Amino acid sequence: MAVTGLDIYKLLPQTNCADCGVPTCLAFAMKVAAKQAALDDCPHVSEESKEALGTASQPPQKLVTIGSGDSALKIGNETVMFRHEEKFHHPCGIAVLVNDTDDLDAKAAAIKNLFLERMGQNIGVDVVAVRCGSGDGQKLKDAAMKMQAALNLPMVLIAESADKLQAAAEGLAEARPLLWERNGPSDALVELGARTGLPIVVEGDLDKCDGDVQKARQAGIEEMVLCPGEVTPRGALQFLTMSRRAALKRTYRPLGYPVLAYAWSQDPVQLSLEACHYVLKYGSIVVLDEDRPEYVLPVLVARQSVYVDPQVPVQVEAKVHEINEPHDKSPLLVTTNFSLTYYCVLGEVEASRVPTRILTVDTEGTSVLTAWAADKFGPEQIKEAIEKSGVFDQLAEGYQKPVIPGLVAVISGELSEELGRKVIVGPREAGGIRRFFNSEWPTLVGS
Ligand code: SF4
Repeated sequence: MAVTGLDIYKLLPQTNCADCGVPTCLAFAMKVAAKQAALDDCPHVSEESKEALGTASQPPQKLVTIGSGDSALKIGNETVMFRHEEKFHHPCGIAVLVNDTDDLDAKAAAIKNLFLERMGQNIGVDVVAVRCGSGDGQKLKDAAMKMQAALNLPMVLIAESADKLQAAAEGLAEARPLLWERNGPSDALVELGARTGLPIVVEGDLDKCDGDVQKARQAGIEEMVLCPGEVTPRGALQFLTMSRRAALKRTYRPLGYPVLAYAWSQDPVQLSLEACHYVLKYGSIVVLDEDRPEYVLPVLVARQSVYVDPQVPVQVEAKVHEINEPHDKSPLLVTTNFSLTYYCVLGEVEASRVPTRILTVDTEGTSVLTAWAADKFGPEQIKEAIEKSGVFDQLAEGYQKPVIPGLVAVISGELSEELGRKVIVGPREAGGIRRFFNSEWPTLVGS
């Protein structure tokens, strides 16, 4: 029988503390009943309540942990089809493929290089997929141990048959690798997974996965990851979408597991695009046989973009940011604390090498025009932010002239009156900053 929101509410602490991200226990209970939140999102719910609600309160998609310790990757446990309905909870892992016949030192160095800083976050490859290309299980184990020592990342171990996985699985059991027997799982892999307690991959079309998951569950395996195998991008996207719909919309438990998608395309551009699609459409681990930054970094950016909570504007601290070691005759740019806006401005200022201060006004993470329209980025708010920051004290007389975005040129007169100083209208877009500096601060350009 379906559990209602009220059934769930009765078993919650009813303190309305909002630690779950929802203002009241009742609202949270309704979300759990609608499968838009997991009971575990309430940190105060008792074990008795969890037991009482039983499987009906379980998230429609199983949470699976790959790896251990600080670098462990938790995937699955998603509750919505579309990000605008709520948010996606567990960012997918991006895995780079390594063969046990590769130059492992070179591979480890290449993987370490696959990271970037974007919007104030360091993002990088967070899974290594080690394949038994040699056909020798011992060699796979040695390679996996070497990558584990070099990178300490969660691992997917791949082989054509379960016997080739055995040595690595047993030797690395504490590191909780995901075991992927191609076209598996065979009975031997199910036995290995059950004995070691490691998660396994269930590969094939939806019908095969359905049967194999039930077989593995009967053997005692809890954590599994589905995989459509070597299919076309279209086939993989169909698999990803249909399994997600079956789990979330029909609460069909045999398909309620995260999905691993492998980008098989030979052309590296195609492969990068394929991987981005899988990231955006429900992949929980995406494996790429590619370690060149120009093809992997776009996939990392796609992941960061889709796993941002759409209900929480991404913002930076409202303060004066000093770029390129500014002095008392440096420009003072004023913008909002919306991350995307700030990092666009920052990128252009850094590239210009002009010593600059950027004052970010607290607009609750909204962009320039949105903030202006909502009365959060007008003369009053900018004046208050300037005074609070004390930034004019760092500037010489005659240089206390804030530069405001061209999009809000209309406020320049009023702001000038409020401050009793000249206000400069800057470019409308961040892309115009370097040209603007060339005309307004030519002596500082390239300094
Ligand atoms: S965290 Fe738990 S107790 Fe607090 S409001 Fe949410 S459901 Fe209620």
